Amino acid sequence: MALTDDIRKIKGVGEKTAALFNKLGIFTKNDLLLYFPRDYDTYAKPSPISGLKENEKEVIYAAPTNRPELITRGGKQIVVCKVSDGTGEMELLWFGAPYVRTKLYPGSHLYFKGTVTRRGNSLTMVQPELLGVNEYRIKSQTLQPVYHLTKGLTVNTLRKCVKAALMDLTAGDDYLPQKIKDENDFEGLRDAVSEIHFPKSRETMMDARRRLVFDEFFLFALSVKMMKDDEEVEKFPNELHDVDEVKSYIAGLPYDLTSAQKRALTEIRNDLLSGKRMNRLIQGDVGSGKTVIAIISCLFMAKNGFESVMMAPTEVLAKQHFETFKSALLDFDINVALLTGSMKASEKKKTREKISNHEVDIIIGTHALITDSVEYNRLGLVITDEQHRFGVKQREKLRNKGENAHTLVMSATPIPRTLAVVMYGDLDVSLMDELPAERLPIKNAVVDKRYRPKSWEFIKKEAENGHQAYVICPMIERSNEEDPLADVLSYEKELAGYLGKDIKTTFLHGKMREEEKASVMESFAKGETKVLVSTTVVEVGVNVPNATVMLIENAERFGLASLHQLRGRIGRGSAQSYCIFMAGKDSPEVMERLSILGKSNDGFKIAEEDMAMRGAGDIFGIRQSGDMVFKLGDIMNDAKILKLAGDTVKNSDDKTLSLCYDRGKRFYGRCFSYGGEADVL
Ligand code: ADP
Ligand code: MG
Repeated sequence: MALTDDIRKIKGVGEKTAALFNKLGIFTKNDLLLYFPRDYDTYAKPSPISGLKENEKEVIYAAPTNRPELITRGGKQIVVCKVSDGTGEMELLWFGAPYVRTKLYPGSHLYFKGTVTRRGNSLTMVQPELLGVNEYRIKSQTLQPVYHLTKGLTVNTLRKCVKAALMDLTAGDDYLPQKIKDENDFEGLRDAVSEIHFPKSRETMMDARRRLVFDEFFLFALSVKMMKDDEEVEKFPNELHDVDEVKSYIAGLPYDLTSAQKRALTEIRNDLLSGKRMNRLIQGDVGSGKTVIAIISCLFMAKNGFESVMMAPTEVLAKQHFETFKSALLDFDINVALLTGSMKASEKKKTREKISNHEVDIIIGTHALITDSVEYNRLGLVITDEQHRFGVKQREKLRNKGENAHTLVMSATPIPRTLAVVMYGDLDVSLMDELPAERLPIKNAVVDKRYRPKSWEFIKKEAENGHQAYVICPMIERSNEEDPLADVLSYEKELAGYLGKDIKTTFLHGKMREEEKASVMESFAKGETKVLVSTTVVEVGVNVPNATVMLIENAERFGLASLHQLRGRIGRGSAQSYCIFMAGKDSPEVMERLSILGKSNDGFKIAEEDMAMRGAGDIFGIRQSGDMVFKLGDIMNDAKILKLAGDTVKNSDDKTLSLCYDRGKRFYGRCFSYGGEADVL
């Protein structure tokens, strides 16, 4: 029996159960052990009914005051039961569970656990869990793991199988050297895994978690180090030299480069002339002007006789970069090609041929650049734009397409320092902490829906003055929403009617065909379309400097990271821009959170405040991003463990580390993939 065994080897797991496990990504015993609980339930002391708080999960100890009623409404059976605990009365409801009646007797006390809600004058719990005295006593003494399950799979089945799989996990599977365990007071792998699934107490569970979070961070830091070690010996095989075209291109720009841009370019030039392979991250907030850095780098490589590729996370962005590069380099005799997943097979083939014959100098595209069988001819530079949308693995894959190609990674995600060291430990960083000078800071407004007519009037005025506007909605199609205008399609209809024929309005969303999306974007970029009602497909990278208004509807449904990225679509030209965050509900919490954006246009500041306010968690969306798919670890809340993992890697000798890496991968193998797919909307 081994951890690599298929789950069907576990007693009692047949085809049907196996299929359910497969749905959750569980195929082997090993997968099962790594399927950690997403949370733990506790059974708190019961509260008196008179002291219950609305919308909180509470436990009461109460007895029915009369026989439960069974009513049928809309074909559904509902059990209604009044209970009392001496301090007050409340009503309990169960839907589609007529059998609970057999447990409810007037005067006989039970524990009920559920979320307290209000119906008219009385408090209720809907579908409360019902526990006898003994059951409650046992459960209240231990933590109850909660898993993401799928229909048909019960927590009991899962627990039984995890228990069985644990039998095959032995001390020998622990890859971590005893020395590291001793120094940090870590328990063994088997104990930790067992404890995370079957915790004896909160304290012991937290100890186990600490060990497992360390593992995640440690193996991650290790994989980054391995990448860096690989690189250190690598040299760029050809000598590169300065080219006049770069100077004349910069001289011909309609603006002066910011000093941050100049600094980044100097650093890139030094890298490229050094004879070593460049491995650089350009970290600059939205609108700091990263694209021109990419263009200049590609021009440099092209005139040295090398191809460059640039990978973007969405087709919309790839297409836009393609147009930008083409027109920027018109006078320089440079061939630019586009390669995306949605292109016709024949087109792709033609492009691939051109690439392998070195007929193009710059290739811009999406994932297709790594997934398609593209043969490069003399690939010298690999750029990933909006790196936070990709994973480390994808960056690696693209780079490996070119033997020893230089790498440039561009990202707008603000990352705390400790994290950057671990996450991008293999990269040199150029910080572009400056926006072009003539930009006027975006004016922000955080408002509620009553402001909608006014904002439409405002959009109309801006459009009549020759500017353009984005409206962002959270949904594509009408669903049973309270707000009839929460979706792109209904909204666009309504707004187009309001604005009239002279102001062309269109919609854009991720379910449209790529060609449609491209033509909508083109018409908007050219200024023919004045108002674009869209989902977050425009979130990353899109650049239409003439757009001066962004209205974000139901803004509270987006994360602060998305909102900041979205806002980055305006304020890109010299005219004053305006961002209107419209809250769908104006609760104080929503308004307070949105006001963070209202007060600042600085990505780093917003990240900091978001963190202070929410005590981190998924700070600024980094956690969901491609690079950071940790199962247990939370890069903010577990910052100490993150640092510990980084330091441990730094202070251990290479032999220990490479052994750890190989053996660690054996156990964590499958969950140990940081190359999340880019989230293409
Ligand atoms: P991002 O860093 O978000 O990728 P872009 O590269 O798309 O930003 O640049 C945003 C806009 O700013 C573009 O229209 C670009 O032409 C313009 N731009 C870039 N650098 C400067 C500069 N130094 N001065 C003025 N405008 C600039
Ligand atoms: Mg960009």
